[in-house]
Amino acid sequence: MDDRTSDPLALMTGRVCPRLMAMLLGGVLLAGVASGCADSSSHLERPDPAQMVNSGSWYAREQWPHDGRPFESEDFVVYSDGASLEARQQLAGLAEEVLVEVVDEMGVDPEKMFRFPADQDKIDLYANRYNVLEGGGARAYYAGVIIWSFDSETGQDSTEVRAVRVTLKHELVHVVEALLKGRYVGDVAVGDPRRMPVWFSEGTAEALSGGSTRSAPRTLDEMNGLTAEYGRINPIAWKVDLPLSESVLRSYPNYYYPMAHLAVEYLLDADGLDRSPKDLAAVMLDMGNDVSFAEAFESHIGISESDYEVQFFTRMDAYLPQSEFPLEAIGLGLVSVLVAGLIGGSLVWGFRHWPVVAAPTGASGMSAGDRPTRRGFLVEILVVAVISVGFAVLLLVRIAVSDLPPYAQRAPGYLTTVAYVVASAGILMWAIRRRANHLRSAFLIPLLVVVATGFTIVVVQAIF
Ligand SMILES: [Zn+2]
Repeated sequence: MDDRTSDPLALMTGRVCPRLMAMLLGGVLLAGVASGCADSSSHLERPDPAQMVNSGSWYAREQWPHDGRPFESEDFVVYSDGASLEARQQLAGLAEEVLVEVVDEMGVDPEKMFRFPADQDKIDLYANRYNVLEGGGARAYYAGVIIWSFDSETGQDSTEVRAVRVTLKHELVHVVEALLKGRYVGDVAVGDPRRMPVWFSEGTAEALSGGSTRSAPRTLDEMNGLTAEYGRINPIAWKVDLPLSESVLRSYPNYYYPMAHLAVEYLLDADGLDRSPKDLAAVMLDMGNDVSFAEAFESHIGISESDYEVQFFTRMDAYLPQSEFPLEAIGLGLVSVLVAGLIGGSLVWGFRHWPVVAAPTGASGMSAGDRPTRRGFLVEILVVAVISVGFAVLLLVRIAVSDLPPYAQRAPGYLTTVAYVVASAGILMWAIRRRANHLRSAFLIPLLVVVATGFTIVVVQAIF
């Protein structure tokens, strides 16, 4: 987000859960460690106002003093209103890693190409422990980023590394853009041809960071769904930031950012204009030499911005598939039919045969009629076990790799899956006991598992 934008991330304050199942298993342990860290650091007193220093490169945007204990790494200086040394080191370490990524992808040589402000030779990071930006989230400016610290006390933004990383990368793309131009978007007057349009700046930051908001539409159906909801707004017409309002705060993360993301992705995709992030960097570099955006864009992208604007929706019509082949829906349908068949058959079978098992003569368990019953019981148990395990794995995979935005809460989904596995195992244990005691109610196993699965589906739908 640039300095005049309210970061959409602030609207969603989710915590992101680790992807790995191993992390899930170690979750209790990790939670203990994490809360231990939080406890020890929260004993730190908020810095005494008299000790605070009233200066910093961010001062033109936010008049926030810092505590006079900056942490320096090779390319960054981390200032803060009281973040712990560990939190500063962690942020600096992550920033170094992400900067290398951005610079590599854009083919930028920092030594030769970066143009820092006169009084700076490193990128400033202001890590908020207590302060909160208007609208929350993070902002980039010329050679600096204001972002929440890993030990932020506000609870507004996720301190999970994955969430911080995406936001930091988005902002560092803006910083690299500013360092290539030798100035920031907001520092150039609206209407000046040397001002970079917002769609290009935000689209580039989203495309290179992978997207800090809702993901870019992948199909025409999806795009048409968005235009039906937010209006058929041409993303290339998004030249300057809109004044913040409730509706803008809603449409920014759901329409403007994803559509700008799509617009830049089209420039980069082999099926689009087949440019590379290096071409985007070349546009920025040219602008640093006072070339207008329109001229720099046309010479490096191979189409004029005005043509792109006029042709945008036509180009998307040809570029995006109408809809994704409903592989998932068909697969799910087939599996449902299969499961329904098995469970239905199993129920009918159980209803007809369990009374036999439950009869007092069955107590020996050796009667001739019991053998097929036992075989049937085993099949029933196996089918149910396979269905439960399969469904749990499906759930885990969906939660871990689906198109959820990086800030979405995954932890409740994982917890629900664990609860489902425990419930299914409970049902199976119960059934085995019922069977051992020759009680006819054991034929209810499949029905109980269906109820547990249905309940889990409802819970997961409600979470995401
Ligand atoms: Zn941005």
